[in-house]
Amino acid sequence: MKKRKLVLISVDAMVKEDFDYLLTKPFFKSLFEKGSWVKTLRTIYPSLTYPCHCSMISGCYPEKTGVYNNELDEYRSKLWHWWRKDIKVKTLVDAAKEAGCTVANVFWPCLAGDPNIDYNIAECWSMTPDESFLDVMRKCGATEQVVTDIISSNLHFIEKHQRQAPRCDEFVYACGRDLILKYNPDVLLMHPAHVDAKRHYNGVFNNHVTATLDLVCYWIEKIVWALEEIGELDNTDIVITSDHGQIDIKRTCNPNRLLEGAGLITYDAQGNIETMRAYVRGTGASAQVFVKDKTAYEETYRLFCEAQASGLYGIERCYKREEVKELIHLDGDFDFVLEGDGYTAFADGEGDTYFTPFDTSDYRTGRATHGHYPDKGPQPTMLLVGPDFKAGVQIERRSTLDTAPTLAKVLGLNLPDADGTVIEEILA
Ligand SMILES: [Zn+2]
Repeated sequence: MKKRKLVLISVDAMVKEDFDYLLTKPFFKSLFEKGSWVKTLRTIYPSLTYPCHCSMISGCYPEKTGVYNNELDEYRSKLWHWWRKDIKVKTLVDAAKEAGCTVANVFWPCLAGDPNIDYNIAECWSMTPDESFLDVMRKCGATEQVVTDIISSNLHFIEKHQRQAPRCDEFVYACGRDLILKYNPDVLLMHPAHVDAKRHYNGVFNNHVTATLDLVCYWIEKIVWALEEIGELDNTDIVITSDHGQIDIKRTCNPNRLLEGAGLITYDAQGNIETMRAYVRGTGASAQVFVKDKTAYEETYRLFCEAQASGLYGIERCYKREEVKELIHLDGDFDFVLEGDGYTAFADGEGDTYFTPFDTSDYRTGRATHGHYPDKGPQPTMLLVGPDFKAGVQIERRSTLDTAPTLAKVLGLNLPDADGTVIEEILA
């Protein structure tokens, strides 16, 4: 028997409602009719890209993966959790490698330097003007073979356009297609993010996002053509899923300004930070509070509880660390989590004002964002098509944590520590 193939595409911030439009397209409709649809997925908290993808690929909550923010904890850190070593649990990639599968990746978050990926094009970016995109790719685990065969011929999409949609997605899909044609990997992971970017810029539903769905459909069609070209289409499970939704935002709050007002952050005459007993890391529609000086714990908690009670700052709840662990299996080195009111986003900055205008250069502060408690707003969705899935089955709601255990089962892999469970109803 031929070894089963898997193509797993996470279309960042795609939601159930997007299927209304995608299903007007003959290609997507025909793919849809052959597969099973999990209409809505409950994601993890915070509903941020990196924590979500770590949970999707492992089947574990953030309390186990160890990834609970996109970025590292330090105040205003620009470094993200790019590296595989940041995930503390076994992933679907590890299980696939263990079973002798070849694995390829294009931009699935948090997999830089993963020794179990044969062909790795990790999501990461140049950090200095002198660092070329190829330097980054090599540093993050791309072999010279992958650089030569795959990345170089698609470099024009991205080299001068890092983090810019739609060019990054052109790059992701083109590399995915070339990986199929050149190496025919057993498992291919892809993470395009153009839909997410358009939502941050313009809001959750609008013509810009709809136009992006045209591209998504076309790009996925090219992946299917590639599988057809090498004769693997009928032998491949294609899973199109997403990590989180987004919610429309009306204003951006700077919770660090509250800490400054209470004297927990102070500045010298030049405006440089003098003392910082606590700080807030914005996570879009929520925020995480780190108390550096533990003697300020009660004062900081009281400050944010009072801010919540005032109704002035968009704080719906101030959770203690142990509360979010108990409630939704979120744990980390923070002390409190601030959940937004559904239309306020939280930035990382400090400064003179409590609120700032939209700033689309930061995912936290655009016209729509995420990071919110997972039951709010439009929900992520998942279509599973291929020899291991039934046609025409529709499931109302599952967890994103069920993705990895379900795919592990169809590939005959082992993920014993996953919190998610297998979606048995859709299995052929
Ligand atoms: Zn995302």
